[in-house]
Amino acid sequence: MERIQARRERLKRNVVKEQVDGFLVASPINVRYLTGFTGDSSILLVGPDREILISDGRFTTQIEQECPGLERHIRPTGVETPSEIARVVQGLGWHCLAFEATNLTVAELQAFSMAMPTIEMRGVSGWVETLRRVKDDQEIEAIRTSVRIAERAFAILRSGLRVEETERDVADFLETALRRCGATSSSFPTIVAVGQRAALPHARPTHTRLDRDTFVLVDWGASGEPYKSDLTRIIATGKFTSKFEEIYRTVLTAQERAIAAIHPGALACDIDAEARSVIDAAGFGGFFDHGLGHGIGMEIHEGPRIRKGSPDVLEPGNVVTVEPGIYLPGWGGIRIEDDVLVTDDGCEVLSRLPKGIDSVAID
Ligand code: ZN
Ligand code: ZN
Repeated sequence: MERIQARRERLKRNVVKEQVDGFLVASPINVRYLTGFTGDSSILLVGPDREILISDGRFTTQIEQECPGLERHIRPTGVETPSEIARVVQGLGWHCLAFEATNLTVAELQAFSMAMPTIEMRGVSGWVETLRRVKDDQEIEAIRTSVRIAERAFAILRSGLRVEETERDVADFLETALRRCGATSSSFPTIVAVGQRAALPHARPTHTRLDRDTFVLVDWGASGEPYKSDLTRIIATGKFTSKFEEIYRTVLTAQERAIAAIHPGALACDIDAEARSVIDAAGFGGFFDHGLGHGIGMEIHEGPRIRKGSPDVLEPGNVVTVEPGIYLPGWGGIRIEDDVLVTDDGCEVLSRLPKGIDSVAID
């Protein structure tokens, strides 16, 4: 509980610095991060010396169990959330309230403003997300678990893969295997793309069959409680061409070079540039048109962002994906993705699935 309390303490520094009376947290993920509460439809108010979770009667027991010691306020049935929040905020004597500009809808903001006409609402962004970038030991363990689950599920898939199967069959199988291996769900809809279709970085699985002597891009991850993993591997179904080998080796080298450059203090955009320079030098510069990676955690895409122009600086405790790719329209695409922890003196690749060119083909 203390580590969760410590997150709210860090948040209070922003409240003081921004000279507001309190901060209204509406995003369920951020509420969970700051309280341990796993329900939804609840609002957390954080002031310099008061923290109150405002919820409804469905969650009374759950909050007692999940957030011992946290002040809670249960909204009576029949009272709308904005008016109840207004009552609590006015009771606290607050005049100026910061809110998450990126997590509140226009309609919600209007409802809050109407319920609290005398309170100044000030939109801020990234307060909780910035804290979430740096994972503590328990969060890192949870991500490690999600990586292991994803790896086990993939190994099961790979050992039983048949060329008669379709992209949809493979995706369904993998998602079931993830849950059997201990995931609560897959961390995003699994991408399975055969041959030419792999030129679409976010291809949705179709009824296309795998077939022999082609390759399949599989991008998948496990969601645990609730930390996520995100991996991509290529499976060749039999023989592959020299062009495939050239592109695969280029992507792998780009990924290895980028990983080798990861350390605390490194600029995220420089890590992206490291991978990009390998792909450019091989003549595929125009065919890698997404960022190199992103943070993972309670959400599948979070900070830091590893891409061109990213202002982010890597810190120990960041967990990021490194996923260069080359996508040639009409031919296909190759991407290799691993999850990497920034450590005090460099980095640790959390995922261990083989990825050398000789590991790609199945019989
Ligand atoms: Zn991915
Ligand atoms: Zn990713």
